[in-house]
Amino acid sequence: MTHSGIGYDLHRLVEGRKLMIGGVEIPFDKGSQGHSDGDVLSHALCDALLGAAGLGDIGAHFPDTDPKWKGASSLIFLEHTKKLLADRRLRIVHVDAIVVCERPKLGPHFPAMRSALAKSLGITAEQINLKAKTNEGVDAIGRGEALAAHVIATVQAH
Ligand SMILES: [Zn+2]
Repeated sequence: MTHSGIGYDLHRLVEGRKLMIGGVEIPFDKGSQGHSDGDVLSHALCDALLGAAGLGDIGAHFPDTDPKWKGASSLIFLEHTKKLLADRRLRIVHVDAIVVCERPKLGPHFPAMRSALAKSLGITAEQINLKAKTNEGVDAIGRGEALAAHVIATVQAH
């Protein structure tokens, strides 16, 4: 049995915050606003995996009202999600993602992101595909006020 899940996330880009995407700190003059480290890709990926497993969403597992998650590395969410999937004998087959961000250029950071995400999930970097898009200058993302991620994850029962 193969199941797929979809994940989406958006964060505001603000000054005075680190820009964490896919578990990697990207040098930039703004960063993601958020209770945790604001890692838009890790959050969308977490939701996609939880969706594929039929386990609800990231807010139910890691509420942003819980001080435990303040400033937390989002890779912890992925490691916890990996355990939830393993408990249900679900294996991650493949992940495909789009990060929508006007600036900075993300492509050069993809190898590091794939390896950080793969390590947290106990899979190989080859099982993770990352794509970058700009928003062609349109809307808040196009103005550089926010960034977003879309992820689809496929899991298999074994
Ligand atoms: Zn988020």
